[in-house]
Amino acid sequence: MSRPKIVAGNWKMNTNLPEAIQLASAVAGRVNDADGVVKILIPPFPFLTETKKAIEHKATLHLGAQNCSTHDKGAYTGEIAAGMLKSTGCKYVLVGHSERRQYFHETHADFVKKAEQAFAHGLTPIYCIGETLEQRKNGSHYELVKNQVKEVLGAFKPEQIGKFILAYEPVWAIGTGETATSAQAQDMHAHIRMVLAELFDKTTAQQMPVLYGGSCNAQNAPELFACADVDGGLIGGASLKADDFCRIIDSF
Ligand code: PEP
Repeated sequence: MSRPKIVAGNWKMNTNLPEAIQLASAVAGRVNDADGVVKILIPPFPFLTETKKAIEHKATLHLGAQNCSTHDKGAYTGEIAAGMLKSTGCKYVLVGHSERRQYFHETHADFVKKAEQAFAHGLTPIYCIGETLEQRKNGSHYELVKNQVKEVLGAFKPEQIGKFILAYEPVWAIGTGETATSAQAQDMHAHIRMVLAELFDKTTAQQMPVLYGGSCNAQNAPELFACADVDGGLIGGASLKADDFCRIIDSF
């Protein structure tokens, strides 16, 4: 069963407006619509509109956001609603990134509400999961990841579950320069498909895109993307340089 190939660049809290426009334009100038890879740029909120303008002539280059509110609208100063993101041209939104879990203490209940907001406004949630180094060392990583999937996807109807994208991002590999080996990535991705088959059904397990994230770069991407259950990457640091990001896209 063929799944889409996807590479998403999470710029996190980096760039200013001119840098964002330059980066988005450089990526747009290099990507090839004919390669069949779904490419997603995920800039900071204030640069969504200008990023969209820089990429909209490319059919396979899409806009995503790093987060959304649990609320639809109203008196929530400083929050960004999924509907607002949609109106800037976003198609995707990250939910459950480990930095949101770790620094902002977001919970599974929050991620369910955020994904509900995403669906209500026609956005695709990219739900991030993954264990800490301690959890890997004490052997609880399989159970932990299973629970992360169950607690969030388990709250949705079958027709919505099929619309999620998952990103397996071991916390110990994010921004550390230490990447999971292709064997470790494949092993966990296969586990995630087994969990999906157990919780839902085999078709869901086979159809859901599962991306790898964690110090993925132009050197290690070919080996990671060659794994049977890895459908692409969620890229942090290496997405801030157009050339590196485009070489990652070329890695399939
Ligand atoms: C991320 O934050 O999603 C990520 C994968 O970061 P990095 O590529 O920098 O490890």
